[in-house]
Amino acid sequence: MLGVEPKRRIYLSPPHMSGRELKYIHDAFETNWIAPLGPNVDAFENEVAKYVGANEAVAVSSGTAAIHLALSLLNVKKEDYVFCSSLTFVASANPILYQKAIPVFIDSEPESWNMSPVALEKALVDSAYQGKLPKAVIVVNLYGQSAKMDEIIKICQQYNVPIIEDAAESLGSTYKEKASGTFGDFGIFSFNGNKIITTSGGGMLVSNNREVLTKARFLATQSRDIAPYYQHSKIGYNYRLSNILAGVGRGQLEVLNERVLRRREVFRVYKQELGKLPGVIFMPELDNSYSNRWLTALKIDETIAGVTSQEVINFLDGENIEARHVWKPLHMQPLFKDTKYYKHNEQDISKSLFELGICLPSGSSLTEEEQERVILGIKDVMKIKV
Ligand SMILES: *Cc1c(COP(=O)(O)O)cnc(C)c1O
Repeated sequence: MLGVEPKRRIYLSPPHMSGRELKYIHDAFETNWIAPLGPNVDAFENEVAKYVGANEAVAVSSGTAAIHLALSLLNVKKEDYVFCSSLTFVASANPILYQKAIPVFIDSEPESWNMSPVALEKALVDSAYQGKLPKAVIVVNLYGQSAKMDEIIKICQQYNVPIIEDAAESLGSTYKEKASGTFGDFGIFSFNGNKIITTSGGGMLVSNNREVLTKARFLATQSRDIAPYYQHSKIGYNYRLSNILAGVGRGQLEVLNERVLRRREVFRVYKQELGKLPGVIFMPELDNSYSNRWLTALKIDETIAGVTSQEVINFLDGENIEARHVWKPLHMQPLFKDTKYYKHNEQDISKSLFELGICLPSGSSLTEEEQERVILGIKDVMKIKV
């Protein structure tokens, strides 16, 4: 029987290879430098450090591992406080639990959707009063958008608390012309399969402090002492990136700027086509910042739009289009029930962003026709005549 061809699935953010990765993988095979570490790893670290303008970088097996190393290097231990943005992926905070430390979640503010300097200050005032300041603040740059780093740095400096910048989603973004990921004492990137560039799985820890990154390399390779045999005096991890995967990363890094431009174009088209619909509000971009627009995110205000974010997601799914809710804030997660949380004001901003927010397919390989399908789907569910 003749039927209608099922429409091809449109994914949120699929991997987008450049073709240049194979050369580096081939080099690794030629020299049998499959593992451990090797020339692609060294080169990838140098290239990323140079790209973002950091003194040094350490390639690791995931962004989560990079956060864990940063916490370890800051000597985060049992019962220590670590502050963290609430509106983020669970990977931002899981390493706090690995260290048996206590997370405290900080709300977003409406202009960047990222950590509220107001809520952060409240939390710091409280913890100073208790005589127990946090060992670190993990600031997330959501969907490519930088947090208000100037204000956050100023507050953290007042209390002398180090910053880990979770730039897993914001490689290629800038804030006041400085690369995202270079504002904290540590920056971390992720090369997971859905990120703007990928090694299929991997991460990077960056810092200007070379000495501390030497320690990071030590911790990430089972903390092996300098001795003629295997000797260990400290707990260690197996967190380094393989030479093959670093090769994939090198091929991807060469096209990072193109990928950023393409994702920004995807955002621009969505905004142009949907930005004037009633109840549709796109994620803003701070004036002094440049977002890689990793994911196009927007709010659907049901009271004006007549549909809920869930209805839009369900409808698009029926059209074989993958859209998703904005991250469910960590203070609302069962894993973190009873965890302390500081709101921006009487409203709970991150909760409301979660309730209204959705992310649309934003891959750099998204075709014009595919994007048109997404746009028509949204107009359709909102009953807008096109
Ligand atoms: C992806 C992501 C991570 C974790 O990176 P992995 O490489 O998957 O471990 C951490 N934080 C945020 C905000 C992320 O989006």
